[in-house]
Amino acid sequence: MVSEQTITLESVTKAYGSFKAGDDLTASVERGGVWALLGPNGAGKTTLLKCMLGLIHFKGRITIEGFDVVAKGKAARGMIGYVPQQPSLYNNLSVLETLRFYADMRGVKRARITELLEFVGLELWGRASVAALSSGMRQRLMLAIALLSDPPTLLLDEPTANLDVRRQLEFRTLLNVLVSEGKTIMLTTHLLGDVDQIARNIMVMNRGKLVATGTTNELMQQLDLSAQLYIELEDQATTDKAMTILEKAGAKDVSIKNSWMVMGVDPTVKLKILNSLNESGVAVKDFKVDEPNLEDAFLRLTGEADVN
Ligand code: ATP
Repeated sequence: MVSEQTITLESVTKAYGSFKAGDDLTASVERGGVWALLGPNGAGKTTLLKCMLGLIHFKGRITIEGFDVVAKGKAARGMIGYVPQQPSLYNNLSVLETLRFYADMRGVKRARITELLEFVGLELWGRASVAALSSGMRQRLMLAIALLSDPPTLLLDEPTANLDVRRQLEFRTLLNVLVSEGKTIMLTTHLLGDVDQIARNIMVMNRGKLVATGTTNELMQQLDLSAQLYIELEDQATTDKAMTILEKAGAKDVSIKNSWMVMGVDPTVKLKILNSLNESGVAVKDFKVDEPNLEDAFLRLTGEADVN
């Protein structure tokens, strides 16, 4: 039977001496879509991926596609394609030789290589030496290797960290194609743009603990992050009157910045606030809204820790 949960974590703890790099982590990852594992440096993201791969000893239980990564390690790993942070490739092999090496090791038919070279856009580079590849190409070659046995789950450790903006966009497109094929992708990243663009769900780690899990919108709501509403009045002389109306309508911390009145608003009352000014005869010349963003959520969850 196909399990609904691709990955489950039950009280996963990984200690290095008295220091816990993973501290009682419990979560489940539903099938399909991109899950972003976020957290500041040293939060424990790579440690958790290594636990999922069964590469390091830990306490608790992890299953991948229903297979316990310790008791059924080989079967569990067979369900995963892993792309590490640092591509580990043999520089003296060509792209094709590299793929053939891994294909033979995993008992994968050679025809799959041609298909994957095209998928990652390296079809013209088959005979090139790995040493001649740019970092973006190496990353794509690593992805091709991870996809050789067509695993349902992909674990990618900072896949876009070394890519320029164009390559990042290309890589995100590749991930979207994989998602449309039904794959579940868990990636760690420092680039919140990755998360905004492609991740359906996020998990935030801080100091070894899982501090939040959910969709971006759920996290915003949970954190009660308010939008900033900017209003410019037609007539500055109506500012005092506007202030009273705005506060009554639910605007928080109203202040004046140059010609703008700035306030925190619950995203659901933005319109009510503008309407109440209108109904009281206070003319609005212009307005703009800064919606709460992922950076705000991230900083709040990790105690203003460094994003990079
Ligand atoms: P980054 O974003 O910098 O890659 P991360 O969230 O992936 O960070 P980890 O690499 O998982 O963090 O490290 C988590 C913590 O565990 C860090 O404080 C790190 O120093 C510690 N750590 C990792 N591996 C070991 C080890 N083999 N021995 C001792 N401590 C370790």
